[in-house]
Amino acid sequence: LHLDAPLGAGAELAAAPGQAHYLGTVLRRAVGDPVRLFNGRDGEWAARIAALRKDRAAFVVERQLRPAAPEPDIRLLVAAIKRDAMDWIAEKATELGAALIQPVFTRRTVAGRVNTSRLAAIAREAAEQCGRLTVPRLADPAPLHAVLDGWDPAVPLLAGDERRASPPLARVVAGIGLRPPFGWLVGPEGGFESAELDDLRRRPFVSTVALGPRILRAETAVVAGLAALQALAGD
Ligand code: SAM
Repeated sequence: LHLDAPLGAGAELAAAPGQAHYLGTVLRRAVGDPVRLFNGRDGEWAARIAALRKDRAAFVVERQLRPAAPEPDIRLLVAAIKRDAMDWIAEKATELGAALIQPVFTRRTVAGRVNTSRLAAIAREAAEQCGRLTVPRLADPAPLHAVLDGWDPAVPLLAGDERRASPPLARVVAGIGLRPPFGWLVGPEGGFESAELDDLRRRPFVSTVALGPRILRAETAVVAGLAALQALAGD
């Protein structure tokens, strides 16, 4: 379970909202049962449930199970798309080790609003489920050009391009000897406009890449790109 509090032997900590319901009703746990806790900084800790009511729970922390370990800094930039697909992306990007999820608005973005706190909750649950000891940061949505303007130019950014005009991702990874930190950018349902692709290609830190000859849904491109990048250049 993910908590925001510092973890250490003997600490008595209140559960985060929703965890009491999850433990009592969903997992049918009781006072005295063991749980594993992490907070993104202190590794993983064994704890016991010290109190459990419908809407409130508390833990007593016992001992460290795993120390904090550095994770590859892989940043996902994804055009805001429909809500179900964004939910799925938050879950899968967490499982695939993204350190940051940055929703961006592009010229063809149709989704009006991104519920970042909902996505952050999904990411937290996915981190708990997959045994990750950190939760990706959910950045506030911002226009693509503003994110590019603020991007650290020392960090390579690979942008998915479905128009068959870009080299395959594996060739680009090998060519630049890609290692984290790096970013993976995916456009919206309608793709990037030509002017956006031109702008991307003008930025020295951007490489546009192809994931094969088929046009993938944006959410598929997110997952396929992250999986390939993890395999080729992750840790
Ligand atoms: N413009 C396209 C169309 O309507 O024909 C579709 C864009 S696609 C659904 C959404 C995004 O997924 C693209 O902007 C791109 O970033 C990524 N993508 C899809 N297929 C890809 C591929 N084969 N290689 C690289 N990126 C891809």
